[in-house]
Amino acid sequence: MALRFFNTLSQQVEDFSTQDGKTVRMYTCGPTVYHYVHIGNLRTFTFQDLLRRWLRYRGYALNHVMNITDVEDKIIRSAMQQGKELREYTSVYETAFLEDADKLRLERPERLVRATEHIPEMLDAIQKLEAGGYTYLSEGSVYYRIAQFPKYGKLARLDFGGMKSGARVDVDEYDKDDARDFVLWKQRKDGEPAWEGPYGAGRPGWHIECSVMAMKYLGETLDIHAGGIDLTFPHHENEIAQSEAITHKQFSRYWLHAEHLMVEGQKMSKSLGNFYTLRDLLEQGWQPDTIRFLLTSSHYRTKLNFTFDGLRAQSTSLERLRNFKLRLETDKLAAGANEALNARAEAAWSAFEAAMDDDLNTAGALGAVFEYVRDANTALDAGEFVEGNRAGALEFLAKFDSIFDVLRPVEREGGLSDAEIQALVDERVAAKKAKNFGRSDEIRNLLAEKGVILEDTREGMRWKRK
Ligand SMILES: [Zn+2]
Repeated sequence: MALRFFNTLSQQVEDFSTQDGKTVRMYTCGPTVYHYVHIGNLRTFTFQDLLRRWLRYRGYALNHVMNITDVEDKIIRSAMQQGKELREYTSVYETAFLEDADKLRLERPERLVRATEHIPEMLDAIQKLEAGGYTYLSEGSVYYRIAQFPKYGKLARLDFGGMKSGARVDVDEYDKDDARDFVLWKQRKDGEPAWEGPYGAGRPGWHIECSVMAMKYLGETLDIHAGGIDLTFPHHENEIAQSEAITHKQFSRYWLHAEHLMVEGQKMSKSLGNFYTLRDLLEQGWQPDTIRFLLTSSHYRTKLNFTFDGLRAQSTSLERLRNFKLRLETDKLAAGANEALNARAEAAWSAFEAAMDDDLNTAGALGAVFEYVRDANTALDAGEFVEGNRAGALEFLAKFDSIFDVLRPVEREGGLSDAEIQALVDERVAAKKAKNFGRSDEIRNLLAEKGVILEDTREGMRWKRK
């Protein structure tokens, strides 16, 4: 079966293809840098990371653009309250976002683009919309007249029967089910940061920035546009209205949306006290690889219930995978090859591929991994797993980890490199042999402090990171 995705636009699972048969032109809505991103946002970004990796595994080249929204209502309000210049305020959170992304091992898109660096292009697009009769001016701001675009609502599939023509909204975000003409260029109010342009001093609305930056770098028609489900309406609907009014071409062929993240079964909100950023969880002592593993463990189109029990369980599952890898790397095995076990590894990988091809069903793919690991561990215990099975099993894990990227332990600050650990382990073995137990204990304690666990096995001293 071919690679296929659920397309929000058609509400169907569709076979995937690109326009040129090779490169995926992909746009994803990036963070609004007015605060640290929360784990709900990070779920969406982690889904996009897996999407990138799976598309590449399937032989596609990637041209992925992500925007940084660095001008917007909340940003301006917060920056002005703190008496800061816009860039001074946003750069802190932009840097923080990139640090969080690195901690979660999210690949960088081919291009990260800032809204404030594309104001002339946005003004140009607004003028094109004006020339096409899609805009009107009111109290110094420019609005998009959605009644002029009959296909409005095709993505969100909302009923706009009760829509009031001419009712307009000039905030960047508004409530669901409330279709109104939205602002393209906002007239400057007292003291706000602003850009000069044909409509007077002001700034762009949030929606126009994504249309403009997507088409500037990816062309008039994208292959994939992705984002969180809450962006479907109005943001993505408005992106379509703007872009297609300018080009008269389909804006994006596939629309992929990640579902919400719940915390302990409830909607995450500051008032419920269950609102978490990555930093909050790291401060509580959770490891970013465990968090990544939890965020990728459910299918992206199901609501993810983020719980601390779930994190603990995920940490145990990860430990099981790493222990299996360690056994594969260090166990002494009998000679020969067990063909049935090699076939088992291949079948497990086929099941993994089939699940991922099926709209990125990560839960199904992980199921295939854990079943295989259980069987292989049983075979190792029984002595049926032999030398000829080692390479296939290691390759299986390497392929898995090129997508999920969780097996590598987190580098700790002030931690030891693998070579440094090995040198200490060797020294400890030598100290024990020489009956220098003082030194041997000293090394064990030092390693424990650095999060390294020693295991005495039949095959000698083995170590792993906690
Ligand atoms: Zn966007």
